[in-house]
Amino acid sequence: MKKLIAGNWKMNGSSDEARALVSDIVNKLAVDDDILARADVLVCPPALYIHDVRHALYGFPSVTFGAQDVSEHEGGAFTGDLSAGMLKDTGCSYVIIGHSERRQYHEESNEQVAKKAERALSNDLVPIICVGESEAERDAGAAQDVVGKQITESLPTTLQSFHQIVIAYEPVWAIGTGKTASRDDVEAMHSFIRAHLKDKVPDVSKVRILYGGSMKPENAEELLACPNVDGGLIGGASLSAESFLAIAKAV
Ligand code: PEP
Repeated sequence: MKKLIAGNWKMNGSSDEARALVSDIVNKLAVDDDILARADVLVCPPALYIHDVRHALYGFPSVTFGAQDVSEHEGGAFTGDLSAGMLKDTGCSYVIIGHSERRQYHEESNEQVAKKAERALSNDLVPIICVGESEAERDAGAAQDVVGKQITESLPTTLQSFHQIVIAYEPVWAIGTGKTASRDDVEAMHSFIRAHLKDKVPDVSKVRILYGGSMKPENAEELLACPNVDGGLIGGASLSAESFLAIAKAV
């Protein structure tokens, strides 16, 4: 399966920086076209800059873009929120849902994540559903229980095809900390997730399961070589075209 290399820019940059980063990515990919033969490349800028990214990508459809969150509601009196229809309208193909920073700082529950994923699907967006345990949960030996429950409760009920969702396993203790899960732990969790998805998704072998958590050029090759790792969700290292594409090149 072709791997997906997705950049989560979080709340970083300006409109000029967003355009410059995408132009840099496009220029580098035009020179090194081998990368796109091996990996799909996706960027998720802050919502305000999606339009800038869309413009910078005109004529270069092989890089897709998406959002970092979506409302669980279809529309109406929800000040400050963005609907899945709006994201689709601005050209998004994907949306990250249930990132641990949203779960932590906005107290998003599994149930909300599932509703958001339903909204995404009904608007023809692919939800990237994030799951992952905290350090205390891992130390207590509860990592698989936590992730299993998140998967059970955060997935929409209406899945008809593996194309419709992406799962991102992001151990919370590895996000933005420089700590990475070991290759063995990552592979064990990814194969557990795949097994756990069996009753939920037809053709589970084709569901993309990304790893996220301090992925960088130095550790990407080892992590991306795991049989059940189908790509990466990359935070910090996606803010530079050089390190982002070095990760894609490691596929
Ligand atoms: C993320 O926020 O999705 C992430 C993986 O961040 P980082 O790569 O910076 O750990």
